[in-house]
Amino acid sequence: MKSATFDEHAVKPRLGSRLSPRTVSADAEAMAGDSQEAPTLLSVVVPCYNEQEVLPLFFERIVDELERIADIDFEIVCVNDGSRDNTLAILLGACRTDARIRAIDLSRNFGKEAALSAAIAEARGDIIVPIDADLQDPPELIARMIEKWREGYDIVLAKRMDRSADTLAKRWTAAAFYRLHNALSDVEIPENAGDFRLISREVADALAQLPERHRFMKGLFAWVGFRTAEIEYKREPRAAGKTKFSFWKLWNFAVEGVTSFSTLPMRIWTYIGTFVAFCAVVRAVMLTVRTLIWGVDVPGYASLATAILLLGGIQLIGLGILGEYVGRIYFEVKGRPIYVVKGRYGSRV
Ligand code: UDP
Ligand code: MG
Repeated sequence: MKSATFDEHAVKPRLGSRLSPRTVSADAEAMAGDSQEAPTLLSVVVPCYNEQEVLPLFFERIVDELERIADIDFEIVCVNDGSRDNTLAILLGACRTDARIRAIDLSRNFGKEAALSAAIAEARGDIIVPIDADLQDPPELIARMIEKWREGYDIVLAKRMDRSADTLAKRWTAAAFYRLHNALSDVEIPENAGDFRLISREVADALAQLPERHRFMKGLFAWVGFRTAEIEYKREPRAAGKTKFSFWKLWNFAVEGVTSFSTLPMRIWTYIGTFVAFCAVVRAVMLTVRTLIWGVDVPGYASLATAILLLGGIQLIGLGILGEYVGRIYFEVKGRPIYVVKGRYGSRV
């Protein structure tokens, strides 16, 4: 397996000279004459989980597209997120045939957010474009993103204007999620923007500094800030293979998104509790007065039982939400790495 040019130590960024052109000695600069700057290195980063059907199509289209963009070098960094099919074999084959393709093999399935974090951390480019393997994000957009970057933007978002390729249920729940998230949290995430975007080296470095293990990437991208431009596109249907996100996975993803960026769901229980307690005191006063005037009234079990059940239910919801946050604190405190790399394949670009 590891016969492909396995170079574990090839992770040293080759950016040194790009990032600090001042290190070039005056002599060398003079010798270079009209010293040509190295072309921009673009890293296209791809999380892959069970994508054997679509990967050959993907490589064909993306390489073709990237070769057409003027004045850039590119590398394609694929992260195999513990696939159970032939994804890794296909990636290794691609590394062998094309030196611009690299593969990072994670030790198991860590989920898309972790795979994407790994991919961005491994990328060496001056600009980085995360893209899905399933060709739902059209590679043709990358050239337009680079144009915007050259205008001086650090992040170029691709916004989906037409989501007709997604199911109605997915579109509705997505819209509801964006509304809820942005109402609750200080960091606004742009509606209908996925992970497909261009980020500059500075943004990638800022992301790498965020130590959290629960990585809701859309939120983190928004949190780091920087100058952002938007371009619009139509979301295509998946080119091959199946979606990896069930309803339950998407629900957990939404909970992750809200709880990672807002504590309002937890704090709101203080107000609900205060309101309920206030109502209870008012009711107690009313009952006392009534008893003093009219004497003891036997009926009332039904209302009592309702009150107990209602309050019990509300308390349990409150506890559950508290649990969401405590659980998150627990995982963060353990300080485990976000992912584990099993192997790196492909040559130095
Ligand atoms: N993915 C991943 N790990 C996972 C699930 C998905 O790396 O646990 C990758 C997947 O291979 C694809 C991208 O994330 O490149 C988006 O997944 P998918 O197309 O299934 O999501 P959808 O477009 O349906 O939201
Ligand atoms: Mg997809």
